[in-house]
Amino acid sequence: MSTVPPTSSEKQIRQSEMPPAGSLIMSGMRTTAQLHIGNYHGALKQWLELQKDYKGFYGAMNWHAMTSRYKEPHDVMNFVREIVAEWLAWGLDPDQNIIFVQSEVPEHVELCMFFLMMTPMSWLERVPTWKDAEEDAKASDTHNLGRFMYPVLQAADIAIYRGTHVPIGQDQIPHLELSREIIRRFNFLYGGNLPEPKPIFSQTPTLVGSDGRKMSKSYSNAFALTQEPDEITKTLRAMPTDPARVKRTDPGEPTKCPVYSFHKLYSNAEDLTWVEAGCRSAGIGCGDCKKKLGDNINSEMMGPREAKRKLLVDGDKLDMIIADGCARARKEAKIQIDQVRSWTGFKPNHDW
Ligand code: SF4
Repeated sequence: MSTVPPTSSEKQIRQSEMPPAGSLIMSGMRTTAQLHIGNYHGALKQWLELQKDYKGFYGAMNWHAMTSRYKEPHDVMNFVREIVAEWLAWGLDPDQNIIFVQSEVPEHVELCMFFLMMTPMSWLERVPTWKDAEEDAKASDTHNLGRFMYPVLQAADIAIYRGTHVPIGQDQIPHLELSREIIRRFNFLYGGNLPEPKPIFSQTPTLVGSDGRKMSKSYSNAFALTQEPDEITKTLRAMPTDPARVKRTDPGEPTKCPVYSFHKLYSNAEDLTWVEAGCRSAGIGCGDCKKKLGDNINSEMMGPREAKRKLLVDGDKLDMIIADGCARARKEAKIQIDQVRSWTGFKPNHDW
């Protein structure tokens, strides 16, 4: 977590409000790995709510994935289909929204080039995810130019669709503020009118991983978003519980137990009461508690798991949805890049 105090402009954007009608939502996920439940509760669930009222551009961000996975481009591309299938399986509507693959819309990169030319390096050097993680980046062989300029590409990702709102967690405020500064500078220099995107804050729960530590891909403790029943059982079996419950007859405290934090995400009020009372009175064992949780997780994952399997097996339908989304994204991006070319004196439509 950054300890950098917010700028006055950052303080302004901490106040998020529901976007007005007609707003355009822009978001995406890096295609580095299979989605875990943090991706759902921290982002996808909010996209599903937003699509009821707003059009959204949702990108499988494979260029961003390459900043850390540049040695494995084939894996990065394989995760594109896997992740888009997951979004669709959980209910993201490809008609209401535009679902695209970042590298299939080259206008992202073209707009990024304009932004790169006018973004002072000092703006990027102060970004917490660069400043605080430089040593890690060196150790993991990802101390590269792509990772350094990542926030500039993010600004282009939003601006190329005239995105007005971006769902973010509080920890992403510095990134969004940087996007706004870049876009503001561009508008000032070239007389453009690209919208400065505003945040829609997500209520991201703190998720614990299967080992009780904070859920993180780097700890290999992430809980995959769709799992087979036996995988769910296996993951839960390995999960630690309140250490006070050494014997079945020892009472425990649910708030000290990672299993309970999952119950809060997947169990209804009746089951929560059952866990709380049973744990504190030792009326239930941890095995009973995990079994109930496993059943609840499985019933929530069952539908999307089957839908995702079908999409991946019947690949044509998935490929058609992706191709259609990329074509629609490209059409919108082309309009905007022509506008950018016009503002900057670069010839629109390459018209000599
Ligand atoms: S009964 Fe449930 S909440 Fe209580 S310690 Fe065991 S697993 Fe955790």
